[in-house]
Amino acid sequence: MKRQQSSRRDTAQTPAASSRLHLTPTGSLDGVRAYPFAEWNVRCRAAVERGLDVIRLDIGNPDLPPPDAVIEAASRALHAPREHGYPGYAGIEALRVAIADYYRRRFDVSLDADGQIAVLLGSKEGIIHLQHALLNPCDVVLVPDPGYTPYVAGARMAGADVVRFPLGADGGFDLDAVPADAMQRARLLWLNYPNNPTGAVVVRESLERAVAFARRHGLLLCHDAAYTDVRFGACVPMSVLEIPGAADVAVEFNSLSKTYNMPGWRIGYAVGHPDALRLLQLVKSNVDSGMFLPLQRAAVVALATGDGWIAQRNAVYENRLTKLAAILSRVGLAPVVPAATHYLWVPVPAPDTAESLAVRWLEQAGVAVAPGTFFGPGGEGFIRVSATVPTEQIRRVEERLCCT
Ligand SMILES: *Cc1c(COP(=O)(O)O)cnc(C)c1O
Repeated sequence: MKRQQSSRRDTAQTPAASSRLHLTPTGSLDGVRAYPFAEWNVRCRAAVERGLDVIRLDIGNPDLPPPDAVIEAASRALHAPREHGYPGYAGIEALRVAIADYYRRRFDVSLDADGQIAVLLGSKEGIIHLQHALLNPCDVVLVPDPGYTPYVAGARMAGADVVRFPLGADGGFDLDAVPADAMQRARLLWLNYPNNPTGAVVVRESLERAVAFARRHGLLLCHDAAYTDVRFGACVPMSVLEIPGAADVAVEFNSLSKTYNMPGWRIGYAVGHPDALRLLQLVKSNVDSGMFLPLQRAAVVALATGDGWIAQRNAVYENRLTKLAAILSRVGLAPVVPAATHYLWVPVPAPDTAESLAVRWLEQAGVAVAPGTFFGPGGEGFIRVSATVPTEQIRRVEERLCCT
C-alpha cells in the first residue's frame, strides 16, 4: 500500500499526465453543477487581480458580528480541557432544549427535544443529507424556481428527478402547474419563506394550502426557514409548524447563520416529522461525527439572545436596503424594499439579461450582484442585491453605477 502511494506521487510529478488515473463523475453527479457562486467567485477574484476594488453585493454573507456573549461562550468552552473530544451524534441535550425554547418563544410551537430536533452542521448540510436519506432514483422532488440551489443539487446527488414550479416575484406559487405524471412520482416539496432570492414572505393561507397539498399527495413538505428573524416593521414570518398538524407531514430547516450573523460557524438544525429526522440522523451518523462542543455551547447562548439585539441588527439591514434601493432607482431600476431577508430582487430592464447586467457592473464598475439565473431559469430577468456590506461601501456603489 505504501509503495503504491509513493509511486503514484512520483507519476504525478512527471509531465506524463496520460498515466494519471482517469476519474469521471457518477451518474448521480450528472446534472449537478458547480455551486454557482464558486464559479462567479473566480470571476470576481480575477477582477480584483486586475486592480478593481469589487464591492460584493452578490453573496448573502452577513458581515456583522454575532452577539458578544456567543463569542465569550465559545471561547470559554475552547479553554476547557474536556470540550475537545467527539461530541456525540445527536447534539447535546442543552442545545436541543434551547432550540425547543426558541421555537416556543418565537413561534409558539412545542417540540419534543428528543425526537423532533436534529442538529446540523449548517442547514445546507441537512438539506443535502435529508434527500440522501429519503429519495430513490426516479423519485421526483418539487423545487421552487427561482430557489436556493442545494434543493436541486441534493435531489440530483440522490439520483432523483427535479421538477421546478414557478415562484412569483411576490412569493406566490402554483403547484397545479406540476404535471400529473410528475405528481405521481413526487416525494418531497421544497418551500422557503422568507424567500431567498426574492425576499418574499408567505401568508398563512399559502402555508396551509401547502400542508394540505403535501398531505393529499403523500409528500414530505420541507420548509427552509433560514430568514424568519431577518424581518422589518410589523412583519413576523411564520414557521410552517404553526399550521396545526404540520409536523405530521413537514420538516423545517433553520439556522443560526442569518438569525445571529454566524454563517461561518456552520450551525443549523431541522425540526418536525420524527421519522424524517431519524433517517437524516442515520445518514449523518455515518458521515459526520457531530458538532464541535464549543460550537454547541455557543449555540445555546445564541438561541437565548434577546429580541432587542435582533431588532437592532435588522434596523441596520433595513437602513442599508433602503439606501441601496434609492441608488438602484436613480440608475433606472425599480427595486422594492422587502418585508424580510437582506435581499433586493430587482427586475432587469431590457435589452439586458440577468447575466449581462451583472457582468457589466462587475467588469466596468466593480459592483458584484447575483444574476437571478443562479437560482434557476425562473430567475432570468432579475438580479439579487444583498445588503451585507457596510454603509460606506454602499455609498461608493452610487458613484460607480451612475457612470456605467
Ligand atoms: C443562507 C441560507 C441558509 C443557511 O444555510 P446554512 O447552511 O445554515 O449556513 C439556508 N437556506 C437559505 C435559503 C439560505 O439563503
